[in-house]
Amino acid sequence: MTRDPRYDILFEPVQIGPVTAKNRFYQVPHCTGSGWERPRTLAGLREVKAEGGWAVVNTEYCSVHPACDDTPYPSASLWDDGDIKSHSLMTEKVHAHGALAGVELCLGGARMPNLGTREVALGVTSMPNLAGNPFQTRAMDLADIKEVRRWHRNAALRAKKAGFDIAYVYATHGYLLSQFLSSVHNTRSDEYGGSLENRVRLIREIIEDTKEAVGDTMAVAVRFSAETNGGYDGGDGNPMPGETEDMFGIIGELPDLWDININDYSVEMGLSRFVQQGALEPYVSYIKGITSKPVVSVGRFTSPDMMVSQIKRGVLDFIGAARPSIADPFLPKKIEEGRLEDIRECIGCNICYTGDGKGVPIRCTQNPAMSEEWRRGWHPEYIEKKASDDRVLVIGAGPAGLEATQALGKRGYDVMLAEATRDLGGRVTKEAKLPGLSEWIRVRDYRLQQIEKLPNVEVYRESELTADEVLAVAADHVVVATGSSWRRDGFGSANPNGIGDLGSDGHVFTPDDIMAGRMPEGSTIVFDDDHYYMGSVMAEAVRATGVSVTLVTPSDSVSAWGEYTMDRWRARTRLMELGVEIVTTHNLHSFDGSKAVLRCDYSGRDLTLNAESLVLVTARLPKDGLYHELAERIAAGADGAPKTLRRIGDCEAPAIIAAAVYSGHKYARQLETDVDLDNPLKHDRVFFADD
Ligand code: ADP
Ligand code: SF4
Repeated sequence: MTRDPRYDILFEPVQIGPVTAKNRFYQVPHCTGSGWERPRTLAGLREVKAEGGWAVVNTEYCSVHPACDDTPYPSASLWDDGDIKSHSLMTEKVHAHGALAGVELCLGGARMPNLGTREVALGVTSMPNLAGNPFQTRAMDLADIKEVRRWHRNAALRAKKAGFDIAYVYATHGYLLSQFLSSVHNTRSDEYGGSLENRVRLIREIIEDTKEAVGDTMAVAVRFSAETNGGYDGGDGNPMPGETEDMFGIIGELPDLWDININDYSVEMGLSRFVQQGALEPYVSYIKGITSKPVVSVGRFTSPDMMVSQIKRGVLDFIGAARPSIADPFLPKKIEEGRLEDIRECIGCNICYTGDGKGVPIRCTQNPAMSEEWRRGWHPEYIEKKASDDRVLVIGAGPAGLEATQALGKRGYDVMLAEATRDLGGRVTKEAKLPGLSEWIRVRDYRLQQIEKLPNVEVYRESELTADEVLAVAADHVVVATGSSWRRDGFGSANPNGIGDLGSDGHVFTPDDIMAGRMPEGSTIVFDDDHYYMGSVMAEAVRATGVSVTLVTPSDSVSAWGEYTMDRWRARTRLMELGVEIVTTHNLHSFDGSKAVLRCDYSGRDLTLNAESLVLVTARLPKDGLYHELAERIAAGADGAPKTLRRIGDCEAPAIIAAAVYSGHKYARQLETDVDLDNPLKHDRVFFADD
């Protein structure tokens, strides 16, 4: 297939100072959870983006000096020559595919606590650490300002040696330079504070330093907020350009590229639950009118029509992407080759963001190969061919079963997929009907589109298999992906023996009931001992029927684990707007159909709430009965026994959707291969002394 001419504009080359991007697809800097610790993992990850057609591939934030240390969050670094070698692993691979490599040089300021290096952080003033640590920065004097300029310049020179084509000056997201810009934080009385011209001075100097140091061969990009005060004002639906236009009057023509974002992270990388594709346009669209330099911004763009519209209407020059490039590193290539149905569209769940917060390699719900390119040798598009003509039976068409099926089918195996119900997609199909989760259906749709193209895959709907039926099929390999169900007994981390006193079943509900349309009546308590999205989504779904709802959680906050995806703050705001009452730090002790007794985590005091219904969001039970029966029958020598029997996804261990997809993928990759299951991962190394 060939490209639709409507999309030609996306493949035009664009000049960025001394370098040229081959098209308009631009992977903006994004965290990977690997940073300086895993250079080969990172090089593998960035390489597939270049191979997939992105014209520019950037690093994550890259610390310029040990006094800018974000440990335990793994940033990149360019502190010394060892780092040059680490980065050159990436730049060589990116260049091999004709793409440009960019590095986001970063000065930490009050956002970085230097926990690893124990250096004192430098700040625009002596101010508290913005990550909540009980330390303050040292207010920078003029000698410190000189030092910081030197650090940045030296890092730019190292970046050049490492082979980068673009060096960033990072002046937003609350890091040091954005604090200099801010009239709120910058209360200095010297030539770096006060007037707008003074607050812009350090950024201007650093842009000039970088250009002077490396600008002959490298482009200089500036990451900047479209809103005023260096990324501190503004908010959802409330663009505040303020002083930005005046700042552009001073520095607008200095860099070679503007990478524009906004102040509110929860919009900039918003969850699809709350923020739609292209949401930044009202904030950033004026920038191109105040600079002649190319402009890039993001918007979780997966629709090529929307991309074209942004370019044609003069909103952007480059289609910036972090998440769409994570979910599908081959997005540009698929558009170029007219294979739109093969695009794995980002679902906006922000599981990718959890890698940064947890300090582990980035993972993605849609792309199970993310971070596994080097250490497991998984390519997001290509998969090893089958090892035999064996037939595989997959039982259950949730995300685990669908992923296993499509990946096995691509390996060339004859696959039979049996699903108990009429609908394919399992939990994804059900959850996508809940408030705000409609985009999650993309997990099912991508996989079904792939399966439809595979003549060697047969799908059997309304086929709830028993052990006898499975054995009668006599498949060579059987994989059980029968999922899980929400528990009705209150068992969970706060109640490891369940909740003994729950009254009659007629008043007690689980998310499975709500998703099946069985709604509570009368005032309802949603008890959330799961701590991710389901509790708040249940509260929202029940509240939509008009009854009063109270969300109770033993945690200190609503959707506590949602801190890592950003569900936490938005979910709480949404519930407050909907009039849902919130009771934190209380466990559920008992419920009798008219009142619930809650117990305070701290004081042990009881609180009684009147409620007619209770929704329990606590834990799930694996549906593994079929697996265990098969295992027993096979051990007893049953006829039709497969060579291998495995369970995957929630049937093995209930978890997030990303884990189910990964589990299905891993099964398919490893079937009939000689992977050492005791040690399937290559270890990354930071040091190169032995190389
Ligand atoms: P996962 O997240 O692990 O993929 P899901 O709960 O989303 O799990 O999907 C499990 C799927 O398995 C559901 O669609 C369910 O209808 C199906 N299923 C459960 N038991 C059987 C069975 N015995 N035969 C066929 N399909 C089954
Ligand atoms: Fe998109 Fe979710 Fe993948 Fe992140 S984890 S790239 S939000 S699908």
